[in-house]
Amino acid sequence: MRLTVLGSGTSVPHPRRSSSAHWLEAGGGTLLLDISAPAVHRMAEEGLDWPSLDAVWVSHFHLDHVGGLAPFLFGTKYAPQTRGRRKPLNVYGPRGTGELLKKFDEAGGYKLFEQPFPLNVREVAAGEGFEIFGGLKASAFKTPHTGESLAIRLEEAGGASLVYTSDTGFAEPLAEFARGAGLFLLECSFFRTKPVETHVVLEEAMRLARLAAPRRVMLAHLYPEWDGVDIREEAAKLWGGEVIEARDGLRLEV
Ligand SMILES: [Zn+2]
Ligand SMILES: [Zn+2]
Repeated sequence: MRLTVLGSGTSVPHPRRSSSAHWLEAGGGTLLLDISAPAVHRMAEEGLDWPSLDAVWVSHFHLDHVGGLAPFLFGTKYAPQTRGRRKPLNVYGPRGTGELLKKFDEAGGYKLFEQPFPLNVREVAAGEGFEIFGGLKASAFKTPHTGESLAIRLEEAGGASLVYTSDTGFAEPLAEFARGAGLFLLECSFFRTKPVETHVVLEEAMRLARLAAPRRVMLAHLYPEWDGVDIREEAAKLWGGEVIEARDGLRLEV
């Protein structure tokens, strides 16, 4: 698997961290993990093959994770690069993903479901196993964040694995879900002060890392309060494993 961080930040406008999106090449296809509004152009900025994108994972309906879905489909509907495309684009997400897109579509009469290629929306439930495309299996896990929010575990036929929590509060069973992953892509919204229960601070993130024992951890969804803090140094005080700070544009072999 090859991961490209498109957005390591949050909903708060930031000069170097755009909101949540990660590009993954795995099992012979490409998958976008969340699709924030900036992600639509970040894909092009990184020189990624966005016209051939196979699948999108929507973790939950906060706009810093799904705000680019309708704009992306508005783009693929008219872009010269997708005019000749015939292979389907599959959107996976929690129950309600189809309805959300439909409401947005109706609000502006965009006809987003009429694309040059088949557009499929597949809603998944927590605990469900499914196949993203050939060679990439997935399962979903309920996270304590919003009513619909889900984490995803991806297993490549070759043995590589990645768990993406997206936004989540602290919950020990999440560590079990992430057990032994090649990369545990974990949110770490805040350093020490925790304004809400539905995100994690560094101490909780590292507790999850200790319990899950992944090969490596990447910390993402970083609020501006992280600016100027050496994340790796602070993480090393709490867990002995390898911790990577997500940065926009970072590329990593999983
Ligand atoms: Zn978020
Ligand atoms: Zn959220």
